[in-house]
Amino acid sequence: MKEYRCGSYERLSKEDLKKFRTDESMSIEGQRLIINSYCQYNKLKIVEDYVDDGYSGGNYDRPSFKKMIQDIELGKINCVITKDLSRLGRELYKTGEFIEDYFIDKKVRYIAINDNYDSLKGDDGSISMKLTFNDYTLRDTSRKVKSSLDAKRKAGQYIGSFAKYGYQKDPNDKHHLIIDSVASIVVKRIFDMALNGNSPYYIADTLTKEKVPIPIVYKKETRGLLVTENDGYGIWKPQTIRDILTSEMYLGNMVQNTYEKIRYNSKKLRKVEHEDYIIVENTHEPIIDEDTFKKVNELLISKKKIPSKKTNKYLFSGLLFCKECGHRISILEKKNKGNNSHYTQCCLYSKKGKYGICNIHRVNYNLLEEDLVNVITNVCKSFVNEYDNNLLTKEANLILDDELLKLQKDANNITKEINKYNNAIESLYLDKVENKIDISIFDNLLAKYKDELSRAKENLERLDNQKKDLVSAIDKIDYEKCEKIVKSFLQEKKLNYKLISRLVKKVEIDNDKKVKIYFNFPELSCYVNWFFLAQYGLPKKC
Ligand SMILES: [Zn+2]
Repeated sequence: MKEYRCGSYERLSKEDLKKFRTDESMSIEGQRLIINSYCQYNKLKIVEDYVDDGYSGGNYDRPSFKKMIQDIELGKINCVITKDLSRLGRELYKTGEFIEDYFIDKKVRYIAINDNYDSLKGDDGSISMKLTFNDYTLRDTSRKVKSSLDAKRKAGQYIGSFAKYGYQKDPNDKHHLIIDSVASIVVKRIFDMALNGNSPYYIADTLTKEKVPIPIVYKKETRGLLVTENDGYGIWKPQTIRDILTSEMYLGNMVQNTYEKIRYNSKKLRKVEHEDYIIVENTHEPIIDEDTFKKVNELLISKKKIPSKKTNKYLFSGLLFCKECGHRISILEKKNKGNNSHYTQCCLYSKKGKYGICNIHRVNYNLLEEDLVNVITNVCKSFVNEYDNNLLTKEANLILDDELLKLQKDANNITKEINKYNNAIESLYLDKVENKIDISIFDNLLAKYKDELSRAKENLERLDNQKKDLVSAIDKIDYEKCEKIVKSFLQEKKLNYKLISRLVKKVEIDNDKKVKIYFNFPELSCYVNWFFLAQYGLPKKC
């Protein structure tokens, strides 16, 4: 008889802990007890015990789970035992993959005691249904949690773990905020400084120099991170100042739901569109009056626009790139007895050229600009005169194919999901025929699966419509836009950066001073054979 080196795996999430407070078998100890007695009875030897305490089954980013996989790879264990399937993981496809592919691949025996599953004895078909059910429970829980939180947000109740800087949680009601007498003074000062025209960068610098503790230090929210910079007071970031200056929380409005999980089983967050924020007005005392807030935010927006005007001094500023290293190429000025000339230089070379990294990429910018403008003008003229609709269709179809492929991929995944639910429903009926399942559980599960099934079908239909829209929309819009911009370019007597950058995506210069233009519209590219070659002499004495 083959000897098995078993790894026992126990997992308990925070939600499980709350939910099963009374169920001893759910605790880590309880799980271990069940596994140990099973092993004793079946004469299996446990060589390693893996515990993930406080980790959700929705993903596999768990330290002990990873260690277990590592030990499988090393051949240290060849059998995995859990109390039930859901301890291994709750997410349908990944868990199924582990059991149906990975373990089999690695010749690892897998036992889920309470689900009566042992890979040595084979699958009686119930496993996919159980996985489906576990996945459903997870999704359902996360949906329930979110909707109960949303309900609180919509009622203007604060549900964050930490109060916004400037406020503190009301000791009598943790969902209500009251003003923090110390931090609110800093907030007011930040708004005052901004009102006087100071930039977030300057404000951050001032507060840092004055050793005003940064918010997480002030509120002792460092969550195990040790802040040592600036004698432990921390360094203010301009972004923190900007966040404070733009937060409507200081107007007394509760602003929540600004971030969301990218998937129900993921830890990653993404920013929510402003229109989907949950904002409830007048839920707490304001620190800043509306007038000040409005003026400061107008100032912030106008400030942002200034630098872009400054940096685009030349027609092709910011559009030149180094072919070899991909960095920008800057335009430098050389003063020459009242006769200023300009030349280019790779930015990476400027910084690291002394270590032999990249090359100078120096060309005479004045000549280059003249040539580029000529080429672009010719391209635009050709486009207007001899534009070939067939070519457009060809280009558009390339883009279309790409998009359609992406949609098809999504559709395939949903089809897979539909099949899984169909199978789950089928085995549910089989269980019913064989009297393996209680009628109330049957009704319950059937309703749930049908619900998920119709949701998946709706999604599939939505994708189908997207496909149709795409096919009908693609051929006109881009052409019209391109034509408009080309015509405005040709009519313009004095060219500027803005006009150029609407047409040109980038200009690449290589080591041999060959130049390639990339347009924002693929329709234009066919008129330059993708690149033009030119050798540029250096400006004199440069
Ligand atoms: Zn370079």
